[in-house]
Amino acid sequence: MDFQWITGSVGYFQGAVNIGYIKVSSQEGMLVDAGLDEQAMKKVLRHLGEQELPLTHLFITHAHADHYGGAAYLQEKQAIHTYAPNLESAILENPILEPLYLFHGVYPLPHWRNKFLEGKPVRVDTILMEEENLKVGEVSLQTIALPGHSYNQFGVIAEDILFAADGYFGKESLDKHGIPYIVDASRTLESLEKIKSLPCKGAIPGHGSYEEDYVKTVEKNISVHKEIGQLVEENVRAIKGGITLENLVAVCCSNKAVVIKNAPSYMLFRTAVSAYLTKLISEQKVDFAVKNNQLVVELVSR
Ligand SMILES: [Zn+2]
Repeated sequence: MDFQWITGSVGYFQGAVNIGYIKVSSQEGMLVDAGLDEQAMKKVLRHLGEQELPLTHLFITHAHADHYGGAAYLQEKQAIHTYAPNLESAILENPILEPLYLFHGVYPLPHWRNKFLEGKPVRVDTILMEEENLKVGEVSLQTIALPGHSYNQFGVIAEDILFAADGYFGKESLDKHGIPYIVDASRTLESLEKIKSLPCKGAIPGHGSYEEDYVKTVEKNISVHKEIGQLVEENVRAIKGGITLENLVAVCCSNKAVVIKNAPSYMLFRTAVSAYLTKLISEQKVDFAVKNNQLVVELVSR
């Protein structure tokens, strides 16, 4: 995990999950997200210590374990003021909620509660209710609502550099996922358009590299989501009388060359496919029906 400055006071640790750093003053500094686990946080703390860079604040963009898993260790080690968006904060404080919602609300078995789906509980000191200028020391940082990938994800802008979290993915991780994880296709697209319209000098996604010309990458994200949305619709259209949700997930994943290896991973893809479906349902193109005690997706007849 290498640290890289972008401006004199804004930089990031680049890894499988990026961790942002904003030097607010000689006394104050803020991390944007906390990485997957204790190991990731130890590396961050070692580097900041070696470079004598201050760390007083933590901004958690959304409650996915790869972004907050290192936070509990950080809070244990030192005083840190933690910000997180509303709703995401409820999950951060009660992280069992993630495996719980992914597995249809049943109480999750111990092996579903792995570090990729559930981190240690995080104390949230300030809950962000809406976009605002966040006052950190003497500096104010613009927060920006980017829901869609997660229920109430927020990004943050410092010195015209956007920390976009999973508001968009770098090209490589976009290709790797096949069907990127989202919970709401409409909001995902709205957030992508919003990122495009921001007058930022550059942006850092949660997974990928800093780019000045990030708009191209954001456009690529938009076309991937639109393409998957069409794919879902075509797969519903292809089977007369509707398709079971189970078969729809299977056929969409096969179309995108996704090979799901285990149950937790299946739940992530099921959620993503369902998130395109809710967009199609609200557009009154398709709807859920129950046939022979099976959940079926069918075209809305006009
Ligand atoms: Zn995420």
